[in-house]
Amino acid sequence: MTEIPDLTGRIALVTGASRGIGYHLAKQLAAAGAHVIAVARTVGGLEELDDEIKAAGGSATLVPLDLTDMAGIDRLGGSIHERWGKLDILVANAGVLGVIAPIGHVEAKVFDKVMAVNVTGTWRLIRSLDPLLRLSDAGRAIVMSSGAAHSARAFWAPYAASKAAVEALARSWADETKNSPLRVNIVDPGATRTAMRAQAMPGENPDTLPVPADVAASMLPLASPTLTDTGRIWNVRKGGWTDYRLPE
Ligand code: NDP
Repeated sequence: MTEIPDLTGRIALVTGASRGIGYHLAKQLAAAGAHVIAVARTVGGLEELDDEIKAAGGSATLVPLDLTDMAGIDRLGGSIHERWGKLDILVANAGVLGVIAPIGHVEAKVFDKVMAVNVTGTWRLIRSLDPLLRLSDAGRAIVMSSGAAHSARAFWAPYAASKAAVEALARSWADETKNSPLRVNIVDPGATRTAMRAQAMPGENPDTLPVPADVAASMLPLASPTLTDTGRIWNVRKGGWTDYRLPE
């Protein structure tokens, strides 16, 4: 899957679009023809994205929003319905790491924040936007996970638990919608040169890591109207699907 899909006229919402993987995916979706609804808290990052998208001939709508604002997520769904009457592509990418620490040392407020942004925020987005994606002729949802959901390494407990939960949300949603045109897939991007990775591994040389633009390019085909897979995990490093389904 390396082709650049034709997304002319499609409406794509990307969370975590102010930097990192989400920023580059938003840019590439716009370059492929989609109108991008870019969501994050940092207005400067969203404006920089908007400038880049416009300079390349694309278009975007900026939505400064904290994904712990659940009522705000509901209002966003209402506004998209009013303006476009549907949503074609959802990229639920925003996430936080929390802290790398022994499980018993994690502060309650840190654990709660990781769950609020990564899990509850993703669920609330799905709840708000599922009806709009079903109004598209080929709705596509991409939900960002991590290898941590499966490796569950020492000291990564809050983040690993949140990503395991996000995968369960996405797979249940995919199963509910498998007989509709909506396709829901999960992405494991692998270690990527971003602010989050630097927070997790401060001693690592970032030059050894793939850049977010390349990771985004690998994900782009999951937004294609011609995609048929659903409920699967796209492993960027492998450039293929990795499924962790238990045997029937
Ligand atoms: P970054 O830290 O670079 O970017 C995170 C994005 O999420 C930012 O745009 C940030 O925007 C947004 N975000 C964070 N908190 C909130 C919030 N409360 N409300 C709205 N937006 C928020 O991370 P990456 O690009 O590295 O990560 C993107 C995704 O990929 C995440 O889900 C991450 O878990 C996953 N991932 C990353 C890996 C890596 O190695 N980088 C590996 C595996 C998975 P703002 O602060 O402006 O609100």
